[in-house]
Amino acid sequence: MTNQIPQNAIQVFNNRDVSNWTQRDGQDANWIVENGVMSVNKGDIMTQDRFTDFILHLEFMTPHMPDATGQARGNSGVFLQGRYEIQVLDSYGIENPGKGDCGSIYNQFSPLTNACYPPLEWQTYDVYFRAARVNSNGEVVDRTRLTVLQNNIVIHNNIELPGVTGAAIDEQVGEPGPLLLQDHGDDVKYRNIWILPLPLSGSDQY
Ligand code: MG
Repeated sequence: MTNQIPQNAIQVFNNRDVSNWTQRDGQDANWIVENGVMSVNKGDIMTQDRFTDFILHLEFMTPHMPDATGQARGNSGVFLQGRYEIQVLDSYGIENPGKGDCGSIYNQFSPLTNACYPPLEWQTYDVYFRAARVNSNGEVVDRTRLTVLQNNIVIHNNIELPGVTGAAIDEQVGEPGPLLLQDHGDDVKYRNIWILPLPLSGSDQY
């Protein structure tokens, strides 16, 4: 992916503070911002903006925690629409990453390959997200689909999700949702976060 922010993209992180983010309960977000980088602090945060179909770009860095293992090693997460977690974790060098490792759709899909950089290096996620479609009876007629690139390598290729992941904000999959970043107690950092909202369909004219 290009490093250039597309026209019409929303810079959901303004690089200065987290004033356009809140905690899950709507209280002010507490994450620390320095030099255009935000660091996990005191709770999950989510954007005030809500999104349906979109392209997301963000960059993250896991801490160096040589004595920690598994889910305790640099854990955070990127929740699309606040409902579907792409795991953030230090999974560098793991040969066969699983459904809890970095890049997984948490507890649903392992990444196709391990695209992780070592801790303390900036990494990218680029996500092409198509929200679930729900009919007037509230039934899902088209499931959520997404494609994810980590460090420019495809780790999910147009997968269809069976439903929300754990710790989702709700199960109202037909409603727009925020971008939510997880506080799992580790010093994970984020920067350069933008979302390009997409039209839900094109014209029906020939
Ligand atoms: Mg997580």
